[in-house]
Amino acid sequence: MKTEISIEFFPPQTPEGVEKLRVTRQKLAELKPEFFSVTYGAGGSTRERTFAVVKEIAAEGFDAAPHLSCIGSSRESIREILAEYKEAGIKRIVALRGDLPSGMAETGEFRYANELVEFIRAETGDHFSLEVAAYPEWHPQAKSPKDDLDAFVRKVKAGANSAITQYFYNADAYFHFVDEARALGVEVPIIPGIMPIVGFTKLARFSDACGADIPRWMRKKFESFGDDSDSIRAFGLDVVTELCERLLQGGAPGLHFYCMNQAGLTTEICKRLGSK
Ligand code: FAD
Repeated sequence: MKTEISIEFFPPQTPEGVEKLRVTRQKLAELKPEFFSVTYGAGGSTRERTFAVVKEIAAEGFDAAPHLSCIGSSRESIREILAEYKEAGIKRIVALRGDLPSGMAETGEFRYANELVEFIRAETGDHFSLEVAAYPEWHPQAKSPKDDLDAFVRKVKAGANSAITQYFYNADAYFHFVDEARALGVEVPIIPGIMPIVGFTKLARFSDACGADIPRWMRKKFESFGDDSDSIRAFGLDVVTELCERLLQGGAPGLHFYCMNQAGLTTEICKRLGSK
């Protein structure tokens, strides 16, 4: 059976980056993703760049899903963005709270992602299919796992069609989260977010910040490779492919790849999954 996948990009900062992303996209198009999504910088810092990439993806004939974060934004600015996306024929949005850049005062009119979902539904009805974020290992600012789960349920009940998780390397955390959400009446698909592993040091730093756990056995093994990038790549490919296999066998409805604007690892993982 074909695995449904989606792939996430960030909007490049330079013309060279935009050109490189076009090439990456051409390669990843061969995987026939359900959609490509494009991240959105905190406080609207990438508004134009996100929109530009989204328009290119749509012009190439793919379903393009802009991410949209609400923290630090006014209702009016979100209304304008929704109108732009509607006009451009966009049908899907990844709706998030986002994080304020340090030093930026919180002057916005939204506090949490469920308020953004409610607002989008009130303004645009069912025009957009809405994805929200989920955290199988809990969001780092959550008061407790129970509070975080309740916040997730609120977002879904506000009108989300589907959820994409933060990345994780422990399949049991995902299965547990899905079971708990189902017990609270959540019926929408919960798609695991998959982070292919390019290098370890950066991944470890980023994981600490976003609350994703790298299990000790993986950490130790990566550390033992030092600067040997071939070994890191080979081991990373093995563990991430095995993770995807377990998730799909356990009923995950698809996979969302955080490809970091690179085609190689995502393509290789999908090739391995397809050849099983
Ligand atoms: P929320 O669902 O609002 O939750 C944020 C925190 O508030 C959680 O700890 C939650 O438990 C708590 N909370 C929620 N409601 C309440 C309440 N009523 N009272 C008290 N606490 C509450 N960031 C970007 O800047 N740009 C992106 O493009 C982007 N894309 C992402 C895509 C995915 C799939 C994921 C998983 C994350 C992405 N992020 C992105 C990161 C995300 O913005 C951060 O994790 C952010 O801190 C939380 O956003 P959220 O939408 O999950 O927030």
